[in-house]
Amino acid sequence: MRKFSPLACVFVFLFFLPSCFVSPPAEESSFLAMDTLVSLSAEGRDAKETLSRIEDRIKLIDGAILSAHRPDSEISRLNSSGSAPLSPELYGWLETSLEIQKKSSGAFDISLGKIKLLWEDAGKNQSLPLPKAFESLISGGLQLSDGKISGLDNRLLDLGAVGKGIACDEAGKILQNSRCARAVVSVGGSILLYGGGNFKVGIRHPEKGAQEIIGVLETYGAFVSTSGSYERGVEIGGAWYPHIFDPKTGYPPENGLVSVTVRAGSGLVSDALSTACFVLGAEGSAPLLKFYGAQAIFINDKKEIYTSEELAPYFALEDNAYSVFILK
Ligand code: AMP
Ligand code: MG
Repeated sequence: MRKFSPLACVFVFLFFLPSCFVSPPAEESSFLAMDTLVSLSAEGRDAKETLSRIEDRIKLIDGAILSAHRPDSEISRLNSSGSAPLSPELYGWLETSLEIQKKSSGAFDISLGKIKLLWEDAGKNQSLPLPKAFESLISGGLQLSDGKISGLDNRLLDLGAVGKGIACDEAGKILQNSRCARAVVSVGGSILLYGGGNFKVGIRHPEKGAQEIIGVLETYGAFVSTSGSYERGVEIGGAWYPHIFDPKTGYPPENGLVSVTVRAGSGLVSDALSTACFVLGAEGSAPLLKFYGAQAIFINDKKEIYTSEELAPYFALEDNAYSVFILK
């Protein structure tokens, strides 16, 4: 099996291999934000300044708006007050997230903050939560109106499923106003492949180390996000409980999926859909993917890989212990 060893691979779930390099040589940088390693590379006359603007922007939206750890971020202030006026940026991101929440019939839910905390405590205390613990936390409806969000009640906002994709969208806006012809922005499990020509994306092997890939997807410029059960989670009594929850039960979904990779035209959408499709399963995800013009690769614990029809000719399997099937 092939092994990739680019600098940034230790912490990211997807590896990018720009298929060609043109003069001037690519500028590269990396830094920590959004609880992950962010890796940037770009080609173009103003590549260096562009990467520095992208870094500033990602750090700003993380610290000032999205961070759940900083008490003064907009999300933290909103969670402590229950309802507060929203910045136009956050309003827009919440609007799209709530649309995805609706289109996924609630499989995607941005108000799972308390469920996430409950699982973190369960891991620390080594005690599996009972279904009763989630009863009061199961979602009701959130509404946006007059620049405010309402309906949070007993729940906390958590944008962990979309923050990295939003960072890729913001990077894309900066690149569009630059002289860079090609760039790759990698924020944890979400990447932006910017510019003309094709890119090769290595998809992480779900059973092996972070540097092992299961296959390579060749794609035009797009946003690609992966959600994997190996990423984060808690181990209780020898069993692994991943960090993605079915909002209807509070528990991780039991559909055998180990990872879902989504390609879409927006970072927020690719990131949200990889999480939503992880809950919905390969067949249940079809209408959601179709609505957003997105495609996906699902990998399950039976060594089966299901890919959207459009991606199948461009996915090269690297581990023959797995079988590839096309989703119709
Ligand atoms: P990702 O790695 O993009 O799939 O995002 C996972 C993160 O999203 C978790 O760490 C939670 O913060 C949050 N999350 C977990 N389950 C869901 C869900 N069903 N809908 C929305 N967000 C979720
Ligand atoms: Mg996501």
